Amino acid sequence: MSTSARRVAAELDASDPLAPYRDRFLPADDVVAYLDGNSLGRTPRATAERLASFVTDEWARRLIRGWDEGWLDLPVDVGDELGAAVLGAAAGQTLVADSTTVNLFKVLHAACGLRPGRDEIVASAADFPTDRYVVEQVAAQRSMTVRWLQPDLVENVTPDVLGEVLGERTAVVSLSHVDYRSSALLDLPALTEQIHDSGALAVWDLCHSAGVVPTNLDEAGVDLAVGCTYKFLNAGPGAPAFLYVAREHLATADQPIMGWFSAADLFEMADAYRAATDVRRMLSGTPNVLGIVAVQCGVQLVAEAGIDAVRAKSTRLTSYLIDLLDEAGATVLSPRAADRRGSHVSIQVPDAAEAGRRLVEAGVIPDVRRPDLLRLGLSPLSTSFAEVLDGFDVLRSVVLPS
Ligand SMILES: *Cc1c(COP(=O)(O)O)cnc(C)c1O
Repeated sequence: MSTSARRVAAELDASDPLAPYRDRFLPADDVVAYLDGNSLGRTPRATAERLASFVTDEWARRLIRGWDEGWLDLPVDVGDELGAAVLGAAAGQTLVADSTTVNLFKVLHAACGLRPGRDEIVASAADFPTDRYVVEQVAAQRSMTVRWLQPDLVENVTPDVLGEVLGERTAVVSLSHVDYRSSALLDLPALTEQIHDSGALAVWDLCHSAGVVPTNLDEAGVDLAVGCTYKFLNAGPGAPAFLYVAREHLATADQPIMGWFSAADLFEMADAYRAATDVRRMLSGTPNVLGIVAVQCGVQLVAEAGIDAVRAKSTRLTSYLIDLLDEAGATVLSPRAADRRGSHVSIQVPDAAEAGRRLVEAGVIPDVRRPDLLRLGLSPLSTSFAEVLDGFDVLRSVVLPS
């Protein structure tokens, strides 16, 4: 790599206000460039310390008393922190619990139940597999029909595409904020408004935007949302997901996995189920306390850095990488306009599995989508411009045609 390219990367790092955050993550010594923060974020030092102290101090010493000393409230308390720092959600509407898949199942059922008499769910045929499977199941269970959008991967779901199927029969529209393949960022406020104009409810999956693109859920009037925490929120493999229910729906949203944690009084052990009247009604069983503690650490890092600063660095990182890829003649799939993409850049290669193997051998970890996509995820708190350049350097020599 030329010294002038090195100098540019060094200058970008020197003027990056978030550069010090890189040190807040544990190193991975054999990794030259970690370009998969969109699948599993790196490990915050604070999380390693907090989990260790949780085990030895809280679990070991407080034992069952811990539930009354704060653990019971963690899904809501950390939900509120996440809502404030990441989602633009006022307190009392967000929970940290279960997985995205389970939460999507719950919120889709709840949303359909809020629109009785309408019998169609609109979703995208390009969406992440688990989202499509859940949409299909919920529709079948409620004797509803799915209207599948067939958007272009890069343009993705636009008002025109949505307008073709939206109508009086639409109960719910379920969309992902950022396309997991192309990184296309959907216009969440405009689409939400369009969905409401048709009388339907908007359900958003924020897996690829939570922690890296501001979502302003309250302001946009989003009805329900879900998302995961192990990607740009750095909460660790399998960490609990989140769900959001707008205040206006809190008293009436009915979800299908009712358990003692969603009941009005957890310890009443009542004969008959009565749902809680607050956001707890979306819980099911005992929360994963260790996982939620890790989510809290990840959220606090984003809160400290500020979501707008994180987004600003994200667009600088992806623009920088796209410029390098363009110069090298790579086939970039992701949108060119920075305000239309999330925090990963996808390129097309002839054999993604083989390219992935070669990159990993050389210490560069991408995300492979067979047959022909490499996704390069840039996590603003842990990725430097020099690391992007190192990764690109290897990519160019082992993957791109010379
Ligand atoms: C990562 C991701 C998921 C993951 O769901 P899990 O239940 O955590 O396995 C779901 N949907 C989208 C859009 C994702 O990007």
